[in-house]
Amino acid sequence: MAKRDYYEVLGVAKTASADEIKKAYRKLAMKHHPDRNPDDKSAEDKFKEANEAYEMLSDEDKRAAYDRHGHAGVDPNMGGGGFGGAGGGSFSDIFGDVFGDIFGGGGGGGRGGQRVNRGSDLRYTLELDLEEAVRGTTVQIRVPKLSTCEVCDGSGAKKGTFPETCRTCAGNGQVRMQQGFFSVAQTCPTCRGRGKTIKDPCNACHGQGRVEKAKTLEVKIPAGVDTGDRIRLSGEGEAGPNGGPSGDLYVQVSVRAHKIFERDGADLYCEVPISFADAALGGELEVPTLEGRVKLKIPEGTQTGKLFRLRGKGVAPVRGGGQGDLLCRIVVETPVHLSKRQKELLREFQQDTDSENGKHSPRKSSWFESVMNIFGDK
Ligand SMILES: [Zn+2]
Ligand SMILES: [Zn+2]
Repeated sequence: MAKRDYYEVLGVAKTASADEIKKAYRKLAMKHHPDRNPDDKSAEDKFKEANEAYEMLSDEDKRAAYDRHGHAGVDPNMGGGGFGGAGGGSFSDIFGDVFGDIFGGGGGGGRGGQRVNRGSDLRYTLELDLEEAVRGTTVQIRVPKLSTCEVCDGSGAKKGTFPETCRTCAGNGQVRMQQGFFSVAQTCPTCRGRGKTIKDPCNACHGQGRVEKAKTLEVKIPAGVDTGDRIRLSGEGEAGPNGGPSGDLYVQVSVRAHKIFERDGADLYCEVPISFADAALGGELEVPTLEGRVKLKIPEGTQTGKLFRLRGKGVAPVRGGGQGDLLCRIVVETPVHLSKRQKELLREFQQDTDSENGKHSPRKSSWFESVMNIFGDK
């Protein structure tokens, strides 16, 4: 199947700002998140597609390469080590360098790609509950990966012996072949470009210098992270071949859908169903926040869809910008399973209010007026 244009996938213009791209991605990710669409293959595909598009377009370099060369200019499959992470590892991960400015600097893994011997970067998808993401947490993750062989210290040679300089290429890793007037450089067939040969390979790693080994890591998740954020653990990726430096491990945050709250940046949203009598008479409600219940006063005649803002009851995003708000959306519920007596009361109420020319239903009255105007009734 041909790949769709990344801009098309996110539904943004080619000129879209980084912020617009992030917003569009967030919307799609929320909609197609596997938690919300269990066993829905097409949603999963869309989620992956959006992740990949965001990964590319949120990175300035990758976006520039994509703008110039299209899909040929970028390769979403960075590194080699795919492994299942916390139930979500099969999803293509997001490399928007959200944490670059927070956690960057240190480590200095040198992601420039110059070092041929550097180990692969790994990614781990970490699923968190909203509460954990908002408050921060410390998690232990178990990462299966290739680690430097401790027996031979990564050299691949049996204990007490050392790799020898390859005689075929004199350690260059390349040999020159004469072809007519030209001499062509080729990878040395003896050492396969390593420049060294191992006479007695290490038993533990069979001369590879690396062994498959699971490592348990403790990862501190700062408060305020959101889906799409990532944390880099410098040097916790795969060990490099032949004793080369290790790659980095990227812990990719994916926040599970919450039963009550939906997050949008710093703000939280929740729906509050109330009875129509409460809506009509007004009063005090108890609404949930992440820190427990709080009281919310609603006025008489509150309508469905009315948003009440509880300042400071949202989220403090990890990159700063201050605490957001909680927005409670009122949903007036129509009473069901009414007894005979309750129905009688309502009919009485109905007759009493209907006789007053729509005074109690301003929206309905103006709607009827519009309908009458459209059809030319009087
Ligand atoms: Zn070894
Ligand atoms: Zn060689």
